[in-house]
Amino acid sequence: MTNILVINAGSSSLKYQLIDIDTESVIAKGICERIGIAGSMLTYKPAEGDKVEIQKDMKDHQDAIQMVLDILADKEVGVITDMSSIAAVGHRVLHGGEKFSAPVVIDDAVLAAIEECIPLGPLHNPANLMGIRGCMAVMPGVPMVAVFDTAWGQTMDKKAYMYGTPYEAYEKYRVRRYGFHGTSHRYVTGRALELLEKEGVAKENARVITCHLGNGSSCSCSLGGKCVDTSMGLTPLEGMPMGTRCGSIDPAIVPFLMEKMGLSASEMDTYMNKKSGMLGISGVSSDFRDLGAAAEAGNERAKLALEMFAYKTKQYIGSYAASLNGVDAIVFTAGVGENDRDVRAMVMENMEYLGIEFDKEYNQTCPRGQEVELSTKNSKVHVYVIPTDEEMTIARDTAALAL
Ligand code: ADP
Repeated sequence: MTNILVINAGSSSLKYQLIDIDTESVIAKGICERIGIAGSMLTYKPAEGDKVEIQKDMKDHQDAIQMVLDILADKEVGVITDMSSIAAVGHRVLHGGEKFSAPVVIDDAVLAAIEECIPLGPLHNPANLMGIRGCMAVMPGVPMVAVFDTAWGQTMDKKAYMYGTPYEAYEKYRVRRYGFHGTSHRYVTGRALELLEKEGVAKENARVITCHLGNGSSCSCSLGGKCVDTSMGLTPLEGMPMGTRCGSIDPAIVPFLMEKMGLSASEMDTYMNKKSGMLGISGVSSDFRDLGAAAEAGNERAKLALEMFAYKTKQYIGSYAASLNGVDAIVFTAGVGENDRDVRAMVMENMEYLGIEFDKEYNQTCPRGQEVELSTKNSKVHVYVIPTDEEMTIARDTAALAL
């Protein structure tokens, strides 16, 4: 048994999974919530055993990680004898700028580089750093690896990642497309390449379009497993309209609305990130389950929100097929992509021009939570649902670099 602890630290939360990398199984997982806020709580679920909830103050991420270690090694509900049975820690880090195109073992220089990327990821990178530093404090000597959400996008060609803003914006401020959800796009692309190989498509030539559709959504396309383009940009705001994010809009809307509504830059940022998208259009919810139910009950704006989402996703697939000169596989993944049959059907409607034959019936009846193929035998393009597993990918990366 070789245990890897995977940490995904947010500003006030910290998700964790303990993974036995020998068997690739999750031994325990959970979340610390309200870190640094009154009413902190740890949730812990061992693979075999009941869920445990503990309310105890956690003043910072170091406190949170100490609590995670304590419960993992707890005499009654724990799954390890002590901390020494954790071989390494993998940390999810949002923004690696142009410095990181692959996971790295964390040392002082890496910490400094993550810190330098704070202007690009002002909400997430400081939280990620708190998670790493907290872990280093309570687990001295244990190797740690950083896995970046932006690394996947680093193979994009310059013509794909540059914006039409003056070149100095790139030179001075590193304004360019980076893309996010990279660990997920990389994982499901890797699986798609394995599935395609069995169908006679060589890995090095495989053209894959991945649709990570969740609360935040992005599409990406790759050739031979290397990212060619992706829909999120300098920040995760670009792309299709999402749960609460507006996605791509005419940039002139920003000063227009700021002036009309008297908003500051940070208020406008909140308006676009938290109040827009599915929530802002429907006025109902950011959750696709609520939207589906509301649309079914006749709510026109919920229906519109879903139609807009599916239409934009479809357009990304079309534009990426143009980038790749065709497509061998389209992959649906994440909360919506894996579960929402109606959204998948809407995206796949009228895609025959690409040689896609989509099995509408099977899309409605296929099992959940496992890999399935939704294209017919005659389809020129394979359409798959592949459940994403970012934590396992981080654990594998960590094992590969640190053990
Ligand atoms: P994130 O990681 O971005 O928070 P997820 O990938 O977990 O998001 O996706 C969460 C979204 O998935 C929820 O907002 C919900 O709308 C959607 N979702 C989850 N289960 C279902 C389901 N059974 N049917 C439709 N949508 C679902």
